[in-house]
Amino acid sequence: MTAGTNPAAASRIVLYLSESGLLIAKRLSSLTMPVKGADIEAILETYQEVIFVTAVPIAVRLIAPHIKDKATDPAVVSVDEHGKFAVPLLSGHRGANLLARSISQSIGATAVITTLSDISGTCALDSIPGYSAVGAIAKVQNAINHGGAPSLINEHGWPLPATLLVGDDETVIVVSDSAPDIDTISSTGVVQLIPSSLTVGVGCSLDCSSEELTELLQTGIRLAGLSSDAIAAIATIDIRADHHAVRSLGIRILAFSSEELSSIEVPNPSEVVQRTVGTASVAEAASLLGAGPDSTLVLAKIKSPMATLAIARRSPQRGELRVVGIGPGSPGMRTMDAQSAILSSQVIIGFGPYIDLIDDLLGPSQEVHRYPIGEESDRVRHAISSARSGYDTALVCSGDPGVYAMAALAFEEADTVGFDSTRIRIVPGVTAALAAAGLAGAPLGHDHVYISLSDLLTPWDAIERRIAAAAEADLVVAFYNPRSKQRTDQLSRALDILAGYRSPNTPVILARKVGRKSQQVTITTLAAVEQSTVDMETLVIVGNTSTRFSGSRVYTPRGYHLKT
Ligand code: SAH
Repeated sequence: MTAGTNPAAASRIVLYLSESGLLIAKRLSSLTMPVKGADIEAILETYQEVIFVTAVPIAVRLIAPHIKDKATDPAVVSVDEHGKFAVPLLSGHRGANLLARSISQSIGATAVITTLSDISGTCALDSIPGYSAVGAIAKVQNAINHGGAPSLINEHGWPLPATLLVGDDETVIVVSDSAPDIDTISSTGVVQLIPSSLTVGVGCSLDCSSEELTELLQTGIRLAGLSSDAIAAIATIDIRADHHAVRSLGIRILAFSSEELSSIEVPNPSEVVQRTVGTASVAEAASLLGAGPDSTLVLAKIKSPMATLAIARRSPQRGELRVVGIGPGSPGMRTMDAQSAILSSQVIIGFGPYIDLIDDLLGPSQEVHRYPIGEESDRVRHAISSARSGYDTALVCSGDPGVYAMAALAFEEADTVGFDSTRIRIVPGVTAALAAAGLAGAPLGHDHVYISLSDLLTPWDAIERRIAAAAEADLVVAFYNPRSKQRTDQLSRALDILAGYRSPNTPVILARKVGRKSQQVTITTLAAVEQSTVDMETLVIVGNTSTRFSGSRVYTPRGYHLKT
């Protein structure tokens, strides 16, 4: 058994039956093991994702005696030995459908999804981003899948996906962060959707124990009559963010400086705290800061000998706008943050072909808006208004959102329409230049510059001046938007300027459709560039005077060998 070093990868194991199965298994995880002799019970208890490269009946027989509980069983997927199909066997809505879709993207298999909500396109109550579901889920889901429209009780107006159709059926959906009475709601056909609405502020002395803080948290949640499933984050002062008691709670930690905390008005300031850490409140101020503007304190400060705790609820009308870079195309070049930002967004907005590239991450509980080319401002305005209605909204861009994409436009639009820019989160991605460079070698090994050749928004004069400056400064240049059907001569003008300073043998890389179907990389020289093959899905890198070939690859030395 070989274990990977990446903890995320270590949560996945692949079991195989034969040598050909092993080849597929290796493409799916660094942790592989023969089925024969494997302790399946222990594996199901240890790993979050278990993949069998075997026929479905074999996998079913192996796992059947060890299936325990819908809430704790891992995601299990079976992939046939030719890698043609990926079939979720257990925990479809708790990861297996997603796992099967991502396997289908990485090895070209077809994901065989059979959960009814996914194939009928109805909203799946147990996979609405930002909510957990408890109660009579099977009963209400069944009614929804057969065209029913449950009644809705939603006191605070938490935003729900448009695919969740509600009406006046006897089945009921309650949206609330209050502690549910599971037995009663389950027996009366009620599902409670619990929004992740709460930020728990904590303060503690250096010698506070994990047990004390955990107990204070449980007391606080009980006193306020809230559900612990609604806790989105723990907020505290920066000097306690690494404290073992705070970390042991196992919840995302938000840390604030004493200056930030002092700026918040709280009901129970303390002079002692002010003297010790420079702010009159830690727990209350941190909970309110963490929950964001317009939040409300739902539990004022409570104390134990060594700790304080308060709870705030965020405003249901304050969604986050996430401008997400999905990388050049393939799922492998997406960051974990990009993936989780998309998975946890209720609304997804983007250019149609980019939405196709993240298809494996989308489910029927999300609202997806595909836009045609152009209309960038419309997309951004739509995303802002969606976040304003309370939805966490992902605006997806290819590559990185800050590189000739939507991030800057989102801030411009936010300023124009008065949207608070602190509600915008930029999730970086692998930009085309980096992905293309990697395919060719290390052409960006020394100082380099990105230049867009599109003169739609920038006058050509300005672009030419920048190219000349880059040529003069001997920078490696990555050209974005090099050539379209209408704009055919900019690239040759750009290459002419560089040719005035660089030899005809300067390496040039033409990388087309990087990370997408029919990727093509051509490595050539400044004198031999075949411009007709360059289009708007191509990234062009031109080396500087020290960029050189290493066999069929290209690199720009960093200068170590010049050092004496
Ligand atoms: N935000 C994107 C760039 C958008 S501008 C990024 O960070 O990559 C669009 C230009 O980017 C295209 O004209 C092309 O030059 C380049 N580009 C984007 N994706 C590409 C890909 N997969 N392969 C090659 N070039 C790509």
